[in-house]
Amino acid sequence: AAQEGFDLTEVEGDLAAAGHGPLPVLAVVGRPNVGKSTLVNRILGRREAVVEDRPGVTRDRVTYEAEWSGRRFKVVDTGGWEQDVLGIDASVAAQAEFAIEAADAVVFVVDATVGATDTDEAVVKLLRRAGKPVVLCANKVDGPSGEADAAMLWSLGLGEPYPVSALHGRGTGDMLDAVLEALPEAPAQTFGATVGGPRRIALIGRPNVGKSSLLNKVAGEERVVVNEVAGTTRDPVDEMIQLGGITWKFVDTAGIRRRVHLQEGADYYASLRTAAAVEKAEVAVVLIDASESISVQDQRIITMAVEAGRALVIAYNKWDTLDEERRYYLEREIETELVQIQWAPRVNVSARTGRHMEKLVPAIETALAGWETRVPTGRLNSFLGEIVASHPHPIRGGKQPRILFGTQAGTRPPRFVLFASGFLEAGYRRFIERRLREEFGFEGTPLQISVRVRE
Ligand code: GDP
Ligand code: GDP
Repeated sequence: AAQEGFDLTEVEGDLAAAGHGPLPVLAVVGRPNVGKSTLVNRILGRREAVVEDRPGVTRDRVTYEAEWSGRRFKVVDTGGWEQDVLGIDASVAAQAEFAIEAADAVVFVVDATVGATDTDEAVVKLLRRAGKPVVLCANKVDGPSGEADAAMLWSLGLGEPYPVSALHGRGTGDMLDAVLEALPEAPAQTFGATVGGPRRIALIGRPNVGKSSLLNKVAGEERVVVNEVAGTTRDPVDEMIQLGGITWKFVDTAGIRRRVHLQEGADYYASLRTAAAVEKAEVAVVLIDASESISVQDQRIITMAVEAGRALVIAYNKWDTLDEERRYYLEREIETELVQIQWAPRVNVSARTGRHMEKLVPAIETALAGWETRVPTGRLNSFLGEIVASHPHPIRGGKQPRILFGTQAGTRPPRFVLFASGFLEAGYRRFIERRLREEFGFEGTPLQISVRVRE
């Protein structure tokens, strides 16, 4: 099975919004209708997660903040992910895999009145392989007579089954005590990009495109004294600049201002500097000299930003020098050389005259918004379901790979994980990306899509 970059940080956005450090994550997994959502409601102590008797119902939110015995944690509700396009087994396995990747501990819910099914056994295998702590919830034990059913679940080999009635609350306290014991204090996963403080911009481009001129132009009188901005690191190579009423941090500007005239290896150092700036930034503004042909070096710099997963804005500089003919050829070059980043907002500027400087900030904001877009799991899957139905993958060797299920694993940039019944061709992946963009926007952001093949 493909195991590429499966990095689930489903709670990232919620945490940033809540403004506190990351909490450990508990995932609730199990077959449809065993009572996962009812249990999540019970844990939350409120009726927030909607319970539906109808199969195939999707819900948008999957993570909730919970507290028990004074400890806070996140609950991932995998209920409601069942889609019409999915076989039950594939869906449940996908959920369990999600949990394995995203959670610090797992509550595995089994319907004690039904007993362990083959699907349950399959999930147990996944859980065991993952090695995450598991609490076994024997649900629908509404009274003492059900205790014997619960005891039968020792056979799953996951240790003590906790007899619970999610519906009435019976036994949930003991189970939650076990959950707290299983949960670490802090999550194992830490989130890459830090949050808070001014937005970080990398102004990049090959030598002489006008980076230094642009920086001077936008900074103008508006340069902010670094110390005045709370919570910022006083890195002398970064510069605080106020644009459109907002303070931005232009990272690594020393490299722009101090023209290093190296005879040999200048390209190498320039690209190191670019890479370092991109690493530190949230959004890259790539400056291109519109008066000259788009070069391989320009493309390389763009690729650097895209591969680093940064939001992207393209600024065509020296617009004041363009005549009609050059403008014509520039458009043709953009069509042929930069097709792969058609999604990036574009501004035509002149650092010399100040032309369209005011368009820079809206473009940057658009790109950052795309970069942080989150598509709810339910919406994503109804969209994927439509695609699978209207544009199925071509048949190869008598087989037709299908997308079974998808989830957005993270933002900044948006990362998607698709579960498929077979290998998806590059062309089909590109088609999916194109359709995702048409449907949900994602202006100014690269998308990362990984596919996991289920046997
Ligand atoms: P999910 O698909 O796993 O999220 O399951 P739900 O939480 O939607 O529950 C499915 C059905 O089982 C609903 O009709 C619930 O009311 C019912 N149910 C859930 N927990 C219990 C329980 O502890 N006892 C009984 N008798 N029914 C339950
Ligand atoms: P950097 O190496 O990317 O920092 O580029 P500079 O800012 O040093 O600019 C390189 C040259 O291009 C300088 O001679 C600038 O005056 C010139 N330049 C920069 N921006 C513009 C512009 O918008 N229009 C014109 N005509 N010249 C520009």
